[in-house]
Amino acid sequence: MPALSHRITTLNGDGSDGWDVFYRARAMIADGVPVTELTIGEHDIGTDPSILKAMYESALGGHTGYAIVPGISALRDEVAARVEAQSGVPTRRENVLITPGGQAGLFAAHMAVCAPGDVALFVDPYYATYPGVLRSVGAVPRAVETRSSQGFLPQRDVLKAAVEAATSLLINTPNNPTGAVYPRATLHDIAEVVTAQDMWLISDEVYDTQVWDGAHISPRALPGMAERTLVIGSMSKSHAMTGSRIGWIVGPEDAITCLVDLATNTTYGVPGYIQDAALFGLRTGLPLEAQVAEPFRRRRAIAERILASQTVLRMIPAQGAMYVMLDVRATGMNGEEFAFALLDAHHIAVMPGESFGRSAAGHVRVAMTQEDSRFKAALRTLCEFASALAKAG
Ligand code: PMP
Repeated sequence: MPALSHRITTLNGDGSDGWDVFYRARAMIADGVPVTELTIGEHDIGTDPSILKAMYESALGGHTGYAIVPGISALRDEVAARVEAQSGVPTRRENVLITPGGQAGLFAAHMAVCAPGDVALFVDPYYATYPGVLRSVGAVPRAVETRSSQGFLPQRDVLKAAVEAATSLLINTPNNPTGAVYPRATLHDIAEVVTAQDMWLISDEVYDTQVWDGAHISPRALPGMAERTLVIGSMSKSHAMTGSRIGWIVGPEDAITCLVDLATNTTYGVPGYIQDAALFGLRTGLPLEAQVAEPFRRRRAIAERILASQTVLRMIPAQGAMYVMLDVRATGMNGEEFAFALLDAHHIAVMPGESFGRSAAGHVRVAMTQEDSRFKAALRTLCEFASALAKAG
């Protein structure tokens, strides 16, 4: 076959894609080994039947043809109203593009702001796809490192040192994998640095309904930021609609107009019956979102209680999202060694911090995606395993 493009063959950078533990766990499951999976960000509940009913009725009603590319007007209006209510920033239909999920939004947003060869910043630890997204638009990824001891919050001096000649900065709050929710002071530092450098900010807010401490603040609401921020939203996490592939980009009207052109030439929009279901979900309002988020709030409390009863593992304060990060360095192992050893010894699968970047080395990410009693038992076993390792070491 003729050569494939350099861009696509180097999408994952060098070497491992960071999913080795996950793949081994899936292979064990295929061989009939019962593995407790605390790996990916998939709810243990499905999409609410009321949303599915709306989807079915829309499809039966004939909404199965090409839908209008920017998204149906009612949904764009609903997203605009939601974002305006949450952030206080005046937002209209023209500021909204409906996308097939947040992932497609991340790609499109970077396509809109990065030229090939541009430096695109992202905060480390990061959601696993970020560097690949940046490479896929031809940008050069540059990590902004953070520290476990500082709650994995980006620091002003580090940001300042990183932004030279950069075009964009990608942030994520509430954060996957760390559970951090960026406080106003951090967002102010970010706003100041990207404004001084005349950069774009891409703000991934797909976990905005999962906040356990404090409040979600959208950086688009900070002074002067609406004109240089593209917000990525999604119904995957908020409404347990991961498989429906529905999300949005909110940004300046001129940027959205260009993004509609990109969508016309790539996705050609999102199925109408999915959009109708999403509209129903959003209009159902906060109780449904609270219901979807509640199990993670409960399990975060369970995790805090269990972790408080031991001293080997340190839990990074998790203020939001469906994960907790544990510092495992006192066991004498790094995150990957610990995750493989735990999987082999106890058939519990967690993600090594190393899968999410250098800053998360020596940590593991535990997804709170198993029913409470199973989650509790797995976390207890994980803690006992860590204690035994620390004693033996
Ligand atoms: N951003 C973050 C931080 C995520 O964790 C995910 C999914 N796990 C996404 C974006 C993409 O989500 P989706 O495409 O399902 O909206």
